[in-house]
Amino acid sequence: PHPIVAIIGRPNVGKSTLFNRLVGKRLALVDNRPGVTRDRREGDASLLGLDFRIIDTAGYEDEDPDSLPGRMRRQTESAVQGADVALFMIDARTGLTPLDEEIARWLRAAETPVILVANKAEGRAGEAGMLDALSLGMGDPVALSAEHGEGVVELFEALRPLV
Ligand code: GDP
Ligand code: MG
Repeated sequence: PHPIVAIIGRPNVGKSTLFNRLVGKRLALVDNRPGVTRDRREGDASLLGLDFRIIDTAGYEDEDPDSLPGRMRRQTESAVQGADVALFMIDARTGLTPLDEEIARWLRAAETPVILVANKAEGRAGEAGMLDALSLGMGDPVALSAEHGEGVVELFEALRPLV
């Protein structure tokens, strides 16, 4: 029974890209349109020899923006409840949004340990978002580029004591 790691975050931050990288297969759909992952997906992940079960969350088929927070909340809470660790992913390029702050509040209320991950941090475009992320009060974010495979060692070091 491997530990369970859930990737949490608003649409389009790169959750499925990280999931695919960790599982090593294209099991999750990556799309430029926000919210195209229709189901919660699970896979066996391996990160520098650390083995765990990874869960990719999403599932927003309707375009009604008013219903998004409620659906995200239910899905986030059920994934976090069953997980040993939550990877809370934000987009280092866009900075924090109100939805990020709302998800942070749900995660603070849960007992599951949270690792804050700032994705799309390749190059210099992510630097402002990294600073912004500190205001969440969830510690130093792990800077990651799921697309380019940067920050993998730092993610490993953050996960190792928790899984
Ligand atoms: P999700 O909705 O959170 O699952 O996000 P996706 O994994 O579907 O990615 C959304 C968009 O962000 C896609 O266009 C990805 O190619 C892009 N993306 C994902 N990771 C990175 C990254 O590390 N850097 C950049 N620049 N783009 C990324
Ligand atoms: Mg997705």
